[in-house]
Amino acid sequence: MNNTENTSSASRRITIAIDGHSSCGKSTMAKDLARRIGYIYIDSGAMYRCCTLFCIEQGLISGDGAVDEQQLQARMNEINIAFHLNPSSGRPDAYLNGVNVERQIRTMEVSAHVSPVAALPFVREAMTALQQSMGQKGGIVMDGRDIGTAVFPNAEMKVFVTASPEVRAQRRYDELRAKGEEVSFDEILQNLQERDRIDSTRAVAPLRQAPDAYVLDNSSLTIEEQNQWLLDLYHKLTN
Ligand code: C5P
Repeated sequence: MNNTENTSSASRRITIAIDGHSSCGKSTMAKDLARRIGYIYIDSGAMYRCCTLFCIEQGLISGDGAVDEQQLQARMNEINIAFHLNPSSGRPDAYLNGVNVERQIRTMEVSAHVSPVAALPFVREAMTALQQSMGQKGGIVMDGRDIGTAVFPNAEMKVFVTASPEVRAQRRYDELRAKGEEVSFDEILQNLQERDRIDSTRAVAPLRQAPDAYVLDNSSLTIEEQNQWLLDLYHKLTN
């Protein structure tokens, strides 16, 4: 059965940028929209998480959390990131140097180190170029922090998502516990507040609401309600 929406009335294949705070459900809604309208979904956060996993595996992050910037910069060409469709979930999984790392990149260890890695200008430059090459033909939904401001400033549809920190922490807590990870609510709340702080204050491409973005606070919405809100907006902008 074809589970994509009828897109004949919306034949223009636009670029859709979904930005917002950590753990506010961006990827859930972005994936759902992409599946319904037959677009490619790219999780830009997964790319920064892959870079961070590489640093951890290669011993480029010291005990106090400092990143060996020189080494990382010299070895950026050893980081190969790709997405391949997972036939059982119907969604793209992240691959680092040919290995499916979808599970490893979602751990608290990676979450704890990703924002300092993502703040490095040479890391951003490399990831931005890769994201732009993936989206050059349109027909893409990409979520992240700087997609509507830096990666695709001309995106036809921009959304900025947020929710209260407690709601976001609870969602992440439920998600990680469901995967069997031993985590505490407080650790998650602290982590997402710290990531928001670093992401919003870094010098290059900080987390900002684009002036032409539609804002969604989904604190009190169900997943179905937020997905419908996004689909309605897509139809409004493309019909
Ligand atoms: O989206 P997710 O929470 O998985 O992203 C992980 C981290 O990657 C963010 O906290 C942020 O530091 C970084 N990121 C970024 N720019 C993006 C996407 C993610 O800096 N476009």
